[in-house]
Amino acid sequence: MDSCIFCKIVNGEIPSKKIYENDYVYSLLDISPQSKGHVLVIPKKHSRDIYEIDDDILCEVMKAVKKLSVNIKEKLNPEGLNIVQNSGEIAGQSVFHFHIHIIPRYKREQEYDIDEVAEELRIKEL
Ligand code: AMP
Ligand code: ZN
Repeated sequence: MDSCIFCKIVNGEIPSKKIYENDYVYSLLDISPQSKGHVLVIPKKHSRDIYEIDDDILCEVMKAVKKLSVNIKEKLNPEGLNIVQNSGEIAGQSVFHFHIHIIPRYKREQEYDIDEVAEELRIKEL
């Protein structure tokens, strides 16, 4: 979709702090993180929300959410994490390209450097 910011990120037209990519999914650090290691997982194929996304693509997204959650746990050791999906403006959706937030939760919030977090979390494979 031409006007979609996440489609532009997937296509490399807008820079992002990429963490992981495969044939179906792209994952990046959120630009306004709620905590250290706040990651977004997005399907490469545009769909607006939970109602529009294909089941097969959703399964691929969720497999990546699991993989990235394990990766965050191993590398950043949060005490917990939230997995959040907003569908619809009233639910807080601001980017209308389906995505899932992984938000690590810590007993104590720490200072961090966003580039170091990106480097630490990056999964290099394709
Ligand atoms: P939502 O409110 O669920 O639609 O979440 C959209 C998320 O996308 C917000 O947490 C934003 O901070 C994040 N976001 C918006 N633009 C960018 C961008 N260019 N790169 C990374 N994250 C972004
Ligand atoms: Zn899009």
